[in-house]
Amino acid sequence: MNSTYDTDVLVVGAGPTGLTLAASLINRGIATTIVDAQATAAHTSRAAAVNARTLEVLEGLDVTRRLVKEGVHAPRFTIRDRSRVLMNLDFSGLTTDYPYTLLIPQNVTETLLNDRLLELGGSVVRAKSLTSVVQDDDGVTARFDDGDVVRARYVVGADGIHSSVREQAGIGFHGGAYGESFILADVHLDGEKPIEEVVLFWATAGLTVVAPLPDGSYRIVAPVVDAPEEPSAAFVQQVLDERGPGAGRIVVTDVVWSSRFRIHHRVADTYRAGRLLIAGDAAHVHSPAGGQGMNLGIQDAVVLADALATVLAGGPDTTLDEYSAARRPIASGVVSLTDRLTRLATLPRGLRPIRNAAIGMAGRVPAVRQALAMRLSGLVYR
Ligand SMILES: Cc1cc2nc3c(=O)[nH]c(=O)nc-3n(C[C@H](O)[C@H](O)[C@H](O)COP(=O)(O)OP(=O)(O)OC[C@H]3O[C@@H](n4cnc5c(N)ncnc54)[C@H](O)[C@@H]3O)c2cc1C
Repeated sequence: MNSTYDTDVLVVGAGPTGLTLAASLINRGIATTIVDAQATAAHTSRAAAVNARTLEVLEGLDVTRRLVKEGVHAPRFTIRDRSRVLMNLDFSGLTTDYPYTLLIPQNVTETLLNDRLLELGGSVVRAKSLTSVVQDDDGVTARFDDGDVVRARYVVGADGIHSSVREQAGIGFHGGAYGESFILADVHLDGEKPIEEVVLFWATAGLTVVAPLPDGSYRIVAPVVDAPEEPSAAFVQQVLDERGPGAGRIVVTDVVWSSRFRIHHRVADTYRAGRLLIAGDAAHVHSPAGGQGMNLGIQDAVVLADALATVLAGGPDTTLDEYSAARRPIASGVVSLTDRLTRLATLPRGLRPIRNAAIGMAGRVPAVRQALAMRLSGLVYR
């Protein structure tokens, strides 16, 4: 087998995970090629919450200061039943330089990561779709839809939920699908809109997240049975009336962008099969309720860049197994946390007073609030 390499690491997929990984590797002087099947980057806002841990890990790439300038800083996170606060998490007491949730649309995060990649001398090769990967003792041969063949020492699938790298590596992706779809809407609001606060409303009909975005709009995320493909202002209003602080107390004036998506909760059996590795949505997917998906992917990428740099510098090969062993339980933990939040939010009406009393009591215990704030900010994974 040919042991001449075109690149040390081939990164498949230029979402937030792939961009972070490629920039981190190039920053360490590692020959890296990054490709994406799409002709242009996505323009939609999707994952809007960047947590404190992500901001900490992106410092080394010099991306954090750029993100912090562009986003809304929300130091408060409340869980509410209608307008009643069940739990008030104050992130401002967390020991970090970033004691808040940063709200910023995913396309802006990706643009800032891509800007940094360009500054470092890298660039995404588009539109180039991986069709096959075959590994041997010395490396990996990757083939693309345009007929190109690339030989790399390692290939990383940062290619999202339908990852072809994961499939071709034969890595299982177990879990299940949520029965409901999620609506995602960026809307303008009047009335009792939260300021510098992310609100998670618990209601029998389902949980609903309301969060401020930098352009003055608000992000609404809610699981809905049979949601329309592009939820209208009237539809989002109905969701907020049923689940928010009370009918008419928050008013949707217009929709900037809206979408519906279905989501699974799955974690890959392993993040490594020989010279093939996976990270981000290729390795784990779950409910967007806790705002963790993109954060986990970016954090996977930073840890994996360290591991690949160690191995490429002659360090032990087991460092890549350690990447998988360290990151996989974190994804499993996030899947169970978001599942628990979803189940608690959707308890039948008769059980709600008990739930509210229990969570109200728990919320008065500083250690409970601190533990939840540490989970949501990602600081627990330091
Ligand atoms: C509509 C929508 C709303 C969402 N809302 C939220 C939210 O509110 N909160 C939240 O936390 N998360 C949300 N998410 C999930 C969040 O967007 C993902 O967690 C995040 O994008 C994962 O990043 P990634 O880089 O791992 O994968 P992706 O962003 O999926 O990127 C994968 C990339 O790989 C490329 N690719 C795929 N196959 C190939 C191939 N064979 N060859 C080359 N390239 C390939 C794709 O073109 C894509 O650019 C949402 C997702 C969607 C779709």
